[in-house]
Amino acid sequence: MAVRFRPTSFIDGTPVSPDAAGHDIAVVDPADERIVGQLREADAGEVAAAVEAARRAFDSGPWPRMSADQRKAILYRVRDLILAHAEELTALEVMNTGLPIASVGWQVSRAAANFEMFADVASLLSGQTYTQDPRYLTYVTREPKGVAALIAPWNAPLALASMRVATCIAFGNTCVLKPSEYTPHSILRMVELIAEAGMPKGVVNLVNGRGEVTGAALVSHPCIDMVGFTGGSETGRSIMATAGRNLKPCILELGGKSASIVLESADLETAIDGTLLGIFSNNGQQCLAGSRILVQRSIADRYLDAFTKRAKAIRIGAPLDRATELGPLAFRRHMERVLSYVDTARAEGGELLAGGKRADGFETGFYVEPTIVLARGNDARICQEEIFGPFASVLIFDEPEEAVAIANDSAFGLVSYLWSQDLSETMRMSRDIRAGTIWVNTPMMRELRAPFGGYKESGIGRDGMTSSADFFTEFKTTSIPYEPIAMNRIGLG
Ligand code: NAD
Repeated sequence: MAVRFRPTSFIDGTPVSPDAAGHDIAVVDPADERIVGQLREADAGEVAAAVEAARRAFDSGPWPRMSADQRKAILYRVRDLILAHAEELTALEVMNTGLPIASVGWQVSRAAANFEMFADVASLLSGQTYTQDPRYLTYVTREPKGVAALIAPWNAPLALASMRVATCIAFGNTCVLKPSEYTPHSILRMVELIAEAGMPKGVVNLVNGRGEVTGAALVSHPCIDMVGFTGGSETGRSIMATAGRNLKPCILELGGKSASIVLESADLETAIDGTLLGIFSNNGQQCLAGSRILVQRSIADRYLDAFTKRAKAIRIGAPLDRATELGPLAFRRHMERVLSYVDTARAEGGELLAGGKRADGFETGFYVEPTIVLARGNDARICQEEIFGPFASVLIFDEPEEAVAIANDSAFGLVSYLWSQDLSETMRMSRDIRAGTIWVNTPMMRELRAPFGGYKESGIGRDGMTSSADFFTEFKTTSIPYEPIAMNRIGLG
């Protein structure tokens, strides 16, 4: 069949010709396994051209030298263009990721909101002054840091890549973005829209390709000043090691195995609704999934009966169908990996309460049933490793303190969910759980102004209003005396 898309790099305001020689990677629609794109991989030479374009744009281009309001006007146009092309971007995202269309809509709005929010943040940023020493005025200004290598994952490509790009360029930096090789389509379109909004050439460059080829060339390039990475913890480890060799700072948003804790004081209906969304929305492919469900023994039977019944009733279907609640996983190897954890669970003595196999009724596509396993203990691999699919690992606890201990007994610490109507219980537990974000009686909500990021192996650094500004700007301290300063005079013989 004819391939409709041939994503290439986008360097210095111009797409690289799709006819140029290079390694091709098939891009597959996970819903029906059709090839929907042939991605032309950028090699090290092409990555270097993209970094050089970003370098020129930073060192001598207009973007870092504009007023914040001028930059804001362009970033607002990016927001408007994303909203004006929401339908097209949604269609590309659905075709590429298999995410249900009903859940992709908000991700496109999020992408637009990211540009608006960080344009506003940058335009309101202020410095500091120190006058404690009356002889001097010491003031602190922020300056853009330089050229960023930005690397995005496949699970929510547009929402996550737009976050990285917006936080980076709003403060006057330039970048080279590398999406996941599995999901290049919507991001290429976003980069075209950024150019259409009047962004100066070279501010946002795009390279496509595999992590070990294109991504590795980008992160190790000596002319980048910082790395922003969203993806798995193992990849994060290797990226940070590479960046460390060049002494480049990193912001890393990594994996999770977050506890969603259902206490006997919970409103059970709310907890069931929330825990279902926590693990099965976005096809279970979310860093912030509540993938370890901890339920208090006194309500465990009631909770598990209802939770399992509802999970089995989740509508699995084509991502373009608005009624679909669970679509296919993003690619075959990922589906096989998720399913391999069913065998792991059995071998570890886990009890399969629902799912555990490819969904019936689909001849093609990477559909997996909502899967629930009652685990033998928190040391089970299904409780310690990120599965990143519609796979809930359930544990039963007796006392809230035990739930906190289980939540904390993890290499990760991204988020935690608490379901309880007891105020002091939730306050105590929120204080004691070691995770970057705690959501009480609510499914995931992102307050873009607040810091977001992980403890432990879930990440380094935070996105958010002041935290992104801190990462993407350099502080400069200038001290000037009010009057000529009496100095010790040396070298007078
Ligand atoms: P991944 O780590 O496999 O890949 C992420 C990106 O890194 C891709 O673009 C990939 O091509 C690139 N990459 C791989 N190896 C590289 C290398 N050696 N050098 C440079 N780049 C390289 O992750 P994924 O499978 O795409 O995404 C899923 C993971 O991302 C999950 O672990 C999930 O929890 C995590 N994630 C975290 C957040 C967060 O905000 N904390 C958000 C979304 C996803």
